[in-house]
Amino acid sequence: MNLKSKSTHVSTSTQTVVLPRTEWEVIFSEVDGVKSIERVQPIPESWFDLRKIEGLPANVTLLALLTCPKCREVNALAKGVTKIDSLGKLIPNFVCGVSTCKFTAEVYLDKFHDKPLYALALENGERIELSYTHANNVKEASLAVSGKLLSGWRVIGIGPAIGYHVQPGSKGSVVIA
Ligand SMILES: [Zn+2]
Repeated sequence: MNLKSKSTHVSTSTQTVVLPRTEWEVIFSEVDGVKSIERVQPIPESWFDLRKIEGLPANVTLLALLTCPKCREVNALAKGVTKIDSLGKLIPNFVCGVSTCKFTAEVYLDKFHDKPLYALALENGERIELSYTHANNVKEASLAVSGKLLSGWRVIGIGPAIGYHVQPGSKGSVVIA
């Protein structure tokens, strides 16, 4: 592993990754009427919803497949192991199952609950904070932080969470791709 980072206060914070929902090519096999996943053609840096696949046995506990943001290997999320909160955030944090990778991050699955995830960057003169909300547009997203705006915070960036990056601690580095 090659870690060249010299950052101090930033290095302790966990990286946040928001993955878009995409349609993967998934090949299923069937033995004695039981369907299972044989092969997948993953789309890097995204997740695939397994909840609506028809014909899987009732005891299939997989919720979703996703590619590791670092090594790009497919990881499966299973019910009872990973919880997904109301914003599509994985609990506990994602840890890549590839033993040589073990990449760890705070991961959100965009559109897990169908509505897009929006990211908002806020600053109060001392620090920048990033928060997430479900919304259909920028105006709706901004309502989510109206309480904070009354206590001295200011919105410096807002946009769909996909492709949205904030470098913590460095002012003016909000990028909406
Ligand atoms: Zn990995």
